Amino acid sequence: MKGLYVHIPFCGAICHYCDFAKRVPKNDQMIDDYLDALSREIATYQTHFDSIDTIYIGGGTPSLLTTNQLKKLFDALSFIHPIEYTMEVNPESYTTQKGLLMKQYGINRVSLGVQTFNEKLLTYMNRKHTNKDVFNAINHLKSIGMPYLSIDLIYAIPGQTIKDLEHDLAQIKCLDIGHVSLYSLILEEKTYFYHQYLHGKFKPADQDIEADMYALIMDELSQQGFKQYEISNYAKNNETSKHNIIYWSLDDYIGVGLGAHGFIEGYRTHNERALPKYIDHFQKEKIQQTEEMLLQDALIFGLRKLSGVSISHIEDRFNVHIFERFPRLSQRLDEGLVMIENDYLKLTRKGLFFGNQVFMEFIE
Ligand code: SF4
Repeated sequence: MKGLYVHIPFCGAICHYCDFAKRVPKNDQMIDDYLDALSREIATYQTHFDSIDTIYIGGGTPSLLTTNQLKKLFDALSFIHPIEYTMEVNPESYTTQKGLLMKQYGINRVSLGVQTFNEKLLTYMNRKHTNKDVFNAINHLKSIGMPYLSIDLIYAIPGQTIKDLEHDLAQIKCLDIGHVSLYSLILEEKTYFYHQYLHGKFKPADQDIEADMYALIMDELSQQGFKQYEISNYAKNNETSKHNIIYWSLDDYIGVGLGAHGFIEGYRTHNERALPKYIDHFQKEKIQQTEEMLLQDALIFGLRKLSGVSISHIEDRFNVHIFERFPRLSQRLDEGLVMIENDYLKLTRKGLFFGNQVFMEFIE
């Protein structure tokens, strides 16, 4: 499998927790200039077009673009015929025209940034949509036959109660969609929340509450018929994100756009994060990965999947004995954070929450 990630770095407002490559555009011209550069960068990967299986347009807020700007973007990608074609949408910037245009250009999966159905918490995080926007967008996307729908939610928001989370999970049922991603709120540097934290005005959620919330999410979504297939991702009817599975399986993906990352033929690529530099020459660096780096990534990314990693495959590919190479892994096995099932090393239910403790074992 090979993927193409396309980054649109523009947002109408900046969420208080966000550390992605994003900015509020000064004007339409700025977006147009960016799309010109992005189209030029996409064209540099022309020789890969026939072998691309998935496209993921993320951000930022791709749905902030006008229909004309979206058309320009979709035209630049129209020589590629992926099996999965996803676009991230924010509920407040979705319009019926944009939905129809997406459908017309072959987009078959929409990932909607909902985050929570508690409007007070939305305001607290500086999100600009309402619940009505969410339901309107999903209902319209369904009415035009958009095949695959997903939403993103955040939990462990300071002030969020178990009851709030139960309400959010109940709304998933009402939406009747096939995929949901649930991430805990992470305090990232260079964000508004981090600034608040440094001034004693932000207190991250208690870890015990976070663990209870994670357990509630796993149980409730399982009851709703979702199958968890990654630490933060759940799908019904096998509607998994093929694009994201590429990342966790260490398959090749191209990353285009401001600050985008790629992984192609053993090289990690990093694009410039500053707009003028990106428009001038796109890429900041291209680093060949050593066997050591690839082994580390194969284990860390692979273990994120509930299916885990094949021990024999990793050992043959990298010519190592995993438990000799990472001796403290046995301790994690004893602690019940990882398990072995038919040649597969996997995180346990407890390990899914404490994944970072396991991943640390692979980092020197
Ligand atoms: S979370 Fe998404 S919408 Fe909010 S600022 Fe970051 S990229 Fe923009």
